[in-house]
Amino acid sequence: MGSYYKHKKKETIDVSYSFRCEQCMKESGTLKATISGMEAEINSNYKTLDDKKQNKLNEMAHNNLVSAVKEAYSNATGKHIFVKAFKDECPHCHKPQTWGISGIQNDMFGTPIVCVILGIILGAGCYFFSGVENNLMIAVAAAGICVVIGAGILVLNLIKLGSKKKQTAGVVQKNEPVIEWNDVQHILNER
Ligand SMILES: [Zn+2]
Repeated sequence: MGSYYKHKKKETIDVSYSFRCEQCMKESGTLKATISGMEAEINSNYKTLDDKKQNKLNEMAHNNLVSAVKEAYSNATGKHIFVKAFKDECPHCHKPQTWGISGIQNDMFGTPIVCVILGIILGAGCYFFSGVENNLMIAVAAAGICVVIGAGILVLNLIKLGSKKKQTAGVVQKNEPVIEWNDVQHILNER
């Protein structure tokens, strides 16, 4: 069997933002959020990709970044959801902001759902392709582990959410971050 190489590429971009702290009322000053696209991947038998494949990998990585930026933009401007790249910790008093809750809520089920789907695939894989005597047990165990991990992550997210809600419960004046979308206008203009 020939060896093969995974070629990966991820694109990121910085967006400036600032906010007025809801807890100590100080201005945060300019902060940087790094939005990253999903990592693109191409498998190849060679250590270096030819130009055509390299271009394809670059294009995939870039398209992933474009979707991530567009999603962050439409979430923020349309739904008042601020993705986790926009850190809500005040640089002065280090307390969280009410608008930081939306990012956790938005992201809460993503990883757990992926775990459950992975569990189903893994379980089915073990059941149908392992060819051993007790494959049903192995399949159930494999699926079970994934589901348990998924549930664990969900519980962790719920704890994080609860803690942030508690820490921002006393806030009277709710603010939202000001995001310099101009920084990524060229990306937002792409289709
Ligand atoms: Zn503060």
